[in-house]
Amino acid sequence: MTTSYDILVAGGGLSGAIIAGRLHERFPDKTIAIVEKEPLLGGRLRTTDQNAGLWSYGLNAINENLYEFLDQTLKNHPDNLEISSYLIRKRVTLGALSAGKLSSGTIADSFSEQGARSIAGAAAAKDWTNIDEMMSKIEEGKRNDQPMAQAWKGTRKSPAAIATEHLTRLYGVPDIWSCNVMDLQAKIKDYSSSQWVCDWPKLCEAIIKRAVELGKITVLTETEIAEAEEKDGHWQLATTGGPLQSKVLVVSQSPWDALRWLSKEHWPNPLVNLPVKTKPVSAVILSETLDKEIEIPDVVVIPAENVQVYAEGSILSFQATVNYESTLVAPDVVKAIRRLKRARTKLLAAFDISKEFGNQHIALQPVAWSQPVTASERRVASKLSGYKWQAAKLIFCGDAYGDSMFGDVNLINSVIEGCQKVSV
Ligand SMILES: Cc1cc2nc3c(=O)[nH]c(=O)nc-3n(C[C@H](O)[C@H](O)[C@H](O)COP(=O)(O)OP(=O)(O)OC[C@H]3O[C@@H](n4cnc5c(N)ncnc54)[C@H](O)[C@@H]3O)c2cc1C
Repeated sequence: MTTSYDILVAGGGLSGAIIAGRLHERFPDKTIAIVEKEPLLGGRLRTTDQNAGLWSYGLNAINENLYEFLDQTLKNHPDNLEISSYLIRKRVTLGALSAGKLSSGTIADSFSEQGARSIAGAAAAKDWTNIDEMMSKIEEGKRNDQPMAQAWKGTRKSPAAIATEHLTRLYGVPDIWSCNVMDLQAKIKDYSSSQWVCDWPKLCEAIIKRAVELGKITVLTETEIAEAEEKDGHWQLATTGGPLQSKVLVVSQSPWDALRWLSKEHWPNPLVNLPVKTKPVSAVILSETLDKEIEIPDVVVIPAENVQVYAEGSILSFQATVNYESTLVAPDVVKAIRRLKRARTKLLAAFDISKEFGNQHIALQPVAWSQPVTASERRVASKLSGYKWQAAKLIFCGDAYGDSMFGDVNLINSVIEGCQKVSV
């Protein structure tokens, strides 16, 4: 039997929870269901795998801008909620593990001679002047719109260039050389400003809690959408929990995921170009709970393996990024897992821990794109500038839906505009 709601929100990540909460405030009498394939809300920011009990999922930190938006969202909530109740930590320190030695500095000062020294040694610090010189030309506006490949006059094999590549990957730029220098600066500034980690599933639940208690929002977890079609002014969804129907459909998941069940004909043209013409990235993640806490910086890079490590108490999360398409090729994933395992051995050796723990957990997480920073990605995203794709019965929201290279900007704008556009 088909269950009917006024609005179906497809995806229980941050954007799904926020828009469901806002839609409830706009339409207090209407029924809303959030459809989420996983057992917990939180999406890509989710920190734990319920079954493994480990910190096995992705990105999990947000920047200052999104943090403030969430803070405001919670303050405006009828229960007058406080974001500080969900805050786990602010990431501040950044370390690098090179030649068995762990150095430590701050995220804010990472793009500097000192940061380069800890990542690639004294030689990198010595020729960091080349980077400084290039950056000062950028500041004077001389090379702003050039890709790095043109702006950088030195050799790409120089220690400072290598250190820069490692750092910028961390800032969300997978290929520094095709990135426009102005965008690179903006990314450095954005990442260095702040990294907030909250209890995302709890925070998402809090946003919708009151409406859930009133019976106005239903959360359908472990329910995967397989297909959607529009018939007689209603959306019909085939899901693993049975058929669902609604007047309005909100797509609050990445376009690469949504394209699997919402056919192209329903997508506004420039929007469908995102999943068709751009290539997202995936993360291979190795999580492990140690039997004791170790004191390490909030973020550690291991340049030799091209791996990043995030620490949360006694739980470590080793992450390697791979191109989305290579996640379909088993040997590429196996290579990434080997890098993660070597990185793990190196890090634990620095702490004299050699024990093999039985509770390691490996996850392959399609994290979507790392935002449009290459020229071709910018071209696709620029088609969205000023383009109105939200429709009264079909809304798209999340970090990829917009022309900004900052996911938080797209998320905030698409949620606000989407909520205003709904007519039910
Ligand atoms: C490389 C990278 C780096 C990033 N770095 C940052 C950062 O530093 N700071 C920042 O603020 N943001 C960052 N982001 C963005 C951030 O992860 C997202 O903006 C945030 O998690 C909100 O995502 P969302 O709610 O739109 O989607 P998601 O969190 O992906 O939620 C979508 C939900 O839909 C569910 N779902 C998918 N398919 C189905 C289906 N068929 N049926 C039912 N449910 C389904 C998923 O399980 C998921 O829970 C980054 C993103 C990327 C890709």
